[in-house]
Amino acid sequence: MTMEHKNLAGLSREELLAEVVAMGEKPFRSKQLWHWIYHRGETDFDRMTTLAQPLRTALAETYVVKRPRVSNMQTSGDRTRKWLVQFGDHQEAETVFIPEDDRGAVCISSQVGCTLTCTFCRTGTQKLVRNLTAAEIVGQFMLARDSYDEWPTPTGGGRLISNIVMMGMGEPLLNYENVAKALTIIMDNEGIALSKRRITLSTSGIVPMMQRCGEELGVNLAVSLHAVRDELRDVLVPINRKHPISELLDACRAYPGANNARRITFEYVMLKGVNDSDADAKELVRLLQGIPAKFNLIPFNAWEGAPYECSSNTRMRRFAEILNDGGFSAPIRVPRGRDILAACGQLKSASVRTRI
Ligand code: SAH
Ligand code: SF4
Repeated sequence: MTMEHKNLAGLSREELLAEVVAMGEKPFRSKQLWHWIYHRGETDFDRMTTLAQPLRTALAETYVVKRPRVSNMQTSGDRTRKWLVQFGDHQEAETVFIPEDDRGAVCISSQVGCTLTCTFCRTGTQKLVRNLTAAEIVGQFMLARDSYDEWPTPTGGGRLISNIVMMGMGEPLLNYENVAKALTIIMDNEGIALSKRRITLSTSGIVPMMQRCGEELGVNLAVSLHAVRDELRDVLVPINRKHPISELLDACRAYPGANNARRITFEYVMLKGVNDSDADAKELVRLLQGIPAKFNLIPFNAWEGAPYECSSNTRMRRFAEILNDGGFSAPIRVPRGRDILAACGQLKSASVRTRI
């Protein structure tokens, strides 16, 4: 494997077809390759047995099928797993797997660092280094499947990794093109074939991109709301100064595909004495009237230097109760992977932007 071997994993259908045709092969070969790469997770051309031997040899001369490198892997006491993933230019981001009893979600990063500076989020303390490419985004999912040996076999295969949440490092709607390309690959029926219903994209409120996300991808939307007044949200989620709460909620009302069966999730981080009063909860109920909404109350996950504390359990329960009485589902999330800094808002890598 040398530098000039091009990686086929992460190419779209059209791009893979172009490579195959450029080799002088018939177009249907790209369908077969697609199946091996994305359905079977195969990385060795020699094991792609539906391809003729000369083609396998020719492919191996020019291409590779590979994942980003895992530079560290940690597994929490609660089985949450975190990978520090290193890309070709040595920049790093983190990917997390959160197992439930019979299913689980991979939490995928969209950027190295983040341009936004939400004050409760550790990723927000890491300046944006760069956007991840579609290949790097798909690669995170593929390496999670490798790690659990979860690729389907002709007779079955694991179902542990059942969902994707775009909730890792970065703001996915500020890297929309690459995220959209990656999710399109992941949703393709002849490959990984994860349904849009099993994918949730979380945004801090990049209003101008929300409509397109709903129309083109149709994935579940989660919105990081965290405050009911612009004054406070301006501080917690500074992008609010550009796209205030009323605009954000208008975009939610218009989000394609949202209905009572497929509600928008409103994430709300519980910060002691900051956004957790009864009045805040009542205002939330009022604000979200008419929007097909459910809440996710996220106990604040601490990190070194964070200027907040998590609300008490009784406070969170009372807050949830008010939302429930207002007609909204509002589970308090059980924090996962805190011991290895894998919980919401704790991800960060050592990568910094260097001048070239
Ligand atoms: N950038 C996107 C997605 C990544 S963060 C976004 O902001 O929505 C996923 C969720 O974790 C968001 O709702 C985010 O606000 C929340 N979060 C960030 N820091 C947190 C922390 N320290 N404790 C709990 N939740 C946090
Ligand atoms: Fe970026 Fe999301 Fe963290 Fe805000 S909460 S800094 S948008 S990753």
